[in-house]
Amino acid sequence: MKYFANLKFFVYNLKYMKKYSVGVDLGGTKILTALVDKNSGEVISHIKKKTKKQKGPENIIKKLIESIEELLNESQIPLEEISSIGIGAAGQIDRENGIIIGAPNLDCFNLNLKEILTKHFTLPIFVGNDLEIAAIGEQKFGAGRDCDDFVCIFVGTGVGSAIIKNGRIIYGATGTAGEIGHIIVDLNGRPCACGAHGCLEAYASRTAIETRIEGALKKGRKSAIQDYLEPGKSITSSMIHKSIEREDELVVQCVTEAAEYLSGGIASVINLINPKLIILGGGLIEAVDYFYQKTIKKARAKSLPVPAAKIEFKKAMLGDYSGVIGAAFLEERKL
Ligand SMILES: [Zn+2]
Repeated sequence: MKYFANLKFFVYNLKYMKKYSVGVDLGGTKILTALVDKNSGEVISHIKKKTKKQKGPENIIKKLIESIEELLNESQIPLEEISSIGIGAAGQIDRENGIIIGAPNLDCFNLNLKEILTKHFTLPIFVGNDLEIAAIGEQKFGAGRDCDDFVCIFVGTGVGSAIIKNGRIIYGATGTAGEIGHIIVDLNGRPCACGAHGCLEAYASRTAIETRIEGALKKGRKSAIQDYLEPGKSITSSMIHKSIEREDELVVQCVTEAAEYLSGGIASVINLINPKLIILGGGLIEAVDYFYQKTIKKARAKSLPVPAAKIEFKKAMLGDYSGVIGAAFLEERKL
C-alpha cells in the first residue's frame, strides 16, 4: 500500500512540474493557439490564423497543426514542461474520444481530431467545445473565479452557453447541454440553422442584428452605420457601438429588439436553473455596453421575483483569451 501511495505522490508531482499547456480556440473565422502558464493563467505566446470553412476540413487541420508547431518552436519551452494540448471547437463534441461530431461553422463532421493530432504530437490531446473552454477560462481566471454556480453566455455568430454547477460543467446525457441559442422564443418565428423555427439565436446573435440592419438599409432606411460600411465587408461590433453613441434610430432599434429576446432567453435560464451568476461575453457584449445593460435589466425584470432578487450579472473578463486559457485546462476536466 505504501508503495502505491508513494507512486501516486510521485506521479502527482510529475504532473505539476509541468508548468505550461497549449490551448487552442478553433472557431469559424480564426484559430487562436496559445501557450498558457497554468499557475498564473498568463498567455506566454500566441498565434492567430484565419480559417475559411469553404476550403474544407483538410485546410483547417493543416492550419491547426502548423499553428501548434509554430507555437512550440517559437516559445522555446522544453516539451517536458508542457502537459497537454487542449482544443475547443465550435460544435458538438465526443469528449471521451476527441471527435468533432458536427461543427457546421467549420464544415467538420465526424472528425477524429485526437487521432489526427496524436500522430503529430507526443503530448496528450483533449477536445471540448467553444463555450466549455470559455467557461473554464472565466472560472479559472476571469469573472467566475469566486463562483462555483454560474451560466456563461456568449453572443456572437450564434448564442451559446455553458452551465457550471458545484464547480463542474453540466454536460447532459448526450454532452449537448447549454444550447441556449435554440431555446424557442417564437413558435412561428424565423427559421434557424438547426431546422427549427423561432430559436433565440435567430433574434439575439450578432448575425441576427446584422441581418436586421442590412435588411432595413436595403429597403432604403437611412442610418449612421452607413458612414462606416465598406463595400463587401460586413457590419462589425465596433460599427454598432459607434452608431449607438450617435443615437442612431435604426441601430438602437435593432439592438434593443435583440436585447428584448436575449433577456427573455436569460430569464428562462434563471427560472429553470437558478444560478448565482450569469456571465455574458462575446464581441458584441464587450463593444456595446448599451446591449449588455439593456439585456441584464430586462432579464431581471422578466425573471421570477425570488431568483431575480439574487441573480448577479458580470461581463466576461478575459476577452479573446478566455477560450485558449480554458482549453489549456481541459486536461483537468472530469467527464
Ligand atoms: Zn435553432
